[in-house]
Amino acid sequence: METTHPKKERTFVLLKPDAIQRGLIGEVVHRIERTGLKLIALKIIIATREQAMGHYFKDDAWCEDKGSKTVAALKAAGKRPKKTAIEFGRDIVRALADFITSGPVVVMIWQGNEAIGVVRKLAGGTEPTTSDVGTIRGDLTIDSYRMANVDSRAVRNLIHCSDKPEEAEREIKIWFSKDEQLKYRLLNEEILYDINLDGILE
Ligand code: ADP
Repeated sequence: METTHPKKERTFVLLKPDAIQRGLIGEVVHRIERTGLKLIALKIIIATREQAMGHYFKDDAWCEDKGSKTVAALKAAGKRPKKTAIEFGRDIVRALADFITSGPVVVMIWQGNEAIGVVRKLAGGTEPTTSDVGTIRGDLTIDSYRMANVDSRAVRNLIHCSDKPEEAEREIKIWFSKDEQLKYRLLNEEILYDINLDGILE
């Protein structure tokens, strides 16, 4: 039997510096808010290097996976890669930490049924130029792997969101203290989650 009700799922969301500089905080929050998810915490901060490196703590398998895309892109362009896939992957981690410490970021926790999947669906695929129309990354920006690789930097894709519950809980601990995480009831949760809906008719 499940111990936690599905409506309690939480996801960690970070609006990257490009979202803040492009004036997109309201637009992105609006897209998430109107799904019915509940905002549990929100703040604008300048991330420390420790927070950034802790957040993007990635193992060799992750580095190899991401770095192999760089290797493939170089080969497709007729160039000979000068590093291994893992080394390219580690460069991406450093580039990501540089990126998210380059200016203010907005960090948030959202809660609700399938919170992680719902926000990932809204965010869209990693690369803005190929992510679906209708998604945050697909609609609101234009970066690509190719341009990021040419300039040796992280892809600027506006938003980070957790990809599984253990990651969400690990990330939340990096960015928020317990007393910043609010516990409250939203009136609209009744229509989303109430079982009998017996409080509506007069
Ligand atoms: P997502 O953010 O879609 O979950 P990943 O976890 O795969 O994507 O990667 C984390 C972040 O690293 C991405 O959002 C993007 O900013 C950056 N990134 C991923 N792959 C590359 C790459 N090959 N080159 C540059 N930046 C990358």
